[in-house]
Amino acid sequence: MIRINKRKLLKLLKSRIFAVAVAAIVSIACGLYISSYSGAVEVFINGESTGYVKSEVEFNELKSAAKDMIYNNDFDESALTCKGVYVKKSVLKADKTDTAEIVAVTGDYEQVTALFVDDKLTAFAKTEAEMDSMLSDLVKHYEVEGRKFKAYANNVEKKTIYANLNSIDSLAKTSEEFIEGKAGVGILVTTYTEYEESIAFKTETSYDSSKYDSYSVTTQNGVKGVKKVFANITYLNGEKQETEIVKTEVLKQPVNKKVTKGSKSSAAQSFKDKINIVPSPDRLLMIFPLEITNNIRITSYWGDGRNHKGMDLASPKGTKIYAAADGKVIFSGTKSGYGKCVIIEHYDGKTKTLYAHASALKVNQGDKIKAGDVVALVGSTGRSTGNHLHFEVRISDTPVNPIKYIGLQ
Ligand SMILES: [Zn+2]
Repeated sequence: MIRINKRKLLKLLKSRIFAVAVAAIVSIACGLYISSYSGAVEVFINGESTGYVKSEVEFNELKSAAKDMIYNNDFDESALTCKGVYVKKSVLKADKTDTAEIVAVTGDYEQVTALFVDDKLTAFAKTEAEMDSMLSDLVKHYEVEGRKFKAYANNVEKKTIYANLNSIDSLAKTSEEFIEGKAGVGILVTTYTEYEESIAFKTETSYDSSKYDSYSVTTQNGVKGVKKVFANITYLNGEKQETEIVKTEVLKQPVNKKVTKGSKSSAAQSFKDKINIVPSPDRLLMIFPLEITNNIRITSYWGDGRNHKGMDLASPKGTKIYAAADGKVIFSGTKSGYGKCVIIEHYDGKTKTLYAHASALKVNQGDKIKAGDVVALVGSTGRSTGNHLHFEVRISDTPVNPIKYIGLQ
């Protein structure tokens, strides 16, 4: 029988608990110790350690950021190298390499304030205050005659960059050079102004049908009006660029010009002027057998080439055909070749007139008619190639030249 001493057992138990506790504490401590280290990348400039960054990705970002910060990307990348290491997190945190540090060490650079105009580097100053002063001198240069600064005409941005000052000599760096335009900054200034401007008059035209179309008389002279204009005028580097009219006030209304013009066609009149009927004892007095329009023309004379028995007077369809003299309708109907046709026998007993190719007939056989009565309308019926009146005069049934009967030469 094993006798177990209670006190011994208690002691044993206690020592086990102690061992487990010690093991636990050691392992936690170890864990804590290991986790206070981190994989990192040590950065070297010209072979000299300058600190750490977290990863190679961060190292490459750092390199390209440094390059971006240097004018013309004038940066010797080979001066910058790196190596993977384990460092205490606290060290990594305290000795983190930044871009400015790299730039400062890798070359003969100075920190300057650069001016980017529409994303193009055009000017620099040693300090931001100096840059602001050059920009403000430029603005003042254009703020003359009450003009106030409105905006830059370009996208203007100031950035801190690093540069070798000898390499940026070609950029603008004085107020004079800004004013000469070397920095490429456009200055918009505006001024509120009032001025008077004339108002054009209009012309009102009225027509007088009793006057020929060559007639034109001014019945009232036009007089220009005057208005006051309130406007914002914008200048770009001193050049007037835009006038924004804010409001206008009419000081004096314009007086419209009034003109009267004739509407009677002189083309028709000049044809009428050619008609000159001279009565003679042996000739029946006739009138011109067709309504005179602007479009009337003689297209064929009596006796031309094809033994033409009459005269052809071209005129639009529907033009009125008049009886040339008093008489009686002896035919109104359709005749071969003549189409719709009217024949009138006149009271001298030997003269007949014939009107052919009508589109419509307005009289009947047997009607007694007076000179000037409408007997038919112009058309192109029968042997005809276009709207016209074929007019014949017959003496004792023999066709004669009608030209003088109707007053033409
Ligand atoms: Zn004919």
